[in-house]
Amino acid sequence: MAYVPKRLLLGRCRRCGKPVYKSDEAYYCPRCNIYICPICYAKVRGRCPICLSDLKTL
Ligand SMILES: [Zn+2]
Ligand SMILES: [Zn+2]
Repeated sequence: MAYVPKRLLLGRCRRCGKPVYKSDEAYYCPRCNIYICPICYAKVRGRCPICLSDLKTL
């Protein structure tokens, strides 16, 4: 009985391409429909790199 954790892949970080999973700490821009990982979130200072609006927590 192998336990396979359910990790729903939402998408990839728009800046670095890292996979973003539902259970991860990650950020989202509802206007551009993009995901940003925590590392890139710090680099863009909480702003969407495309539209510059505030990113939302997943
Ligand atoms: Zn990233
Ligand atoms: Zn945006």
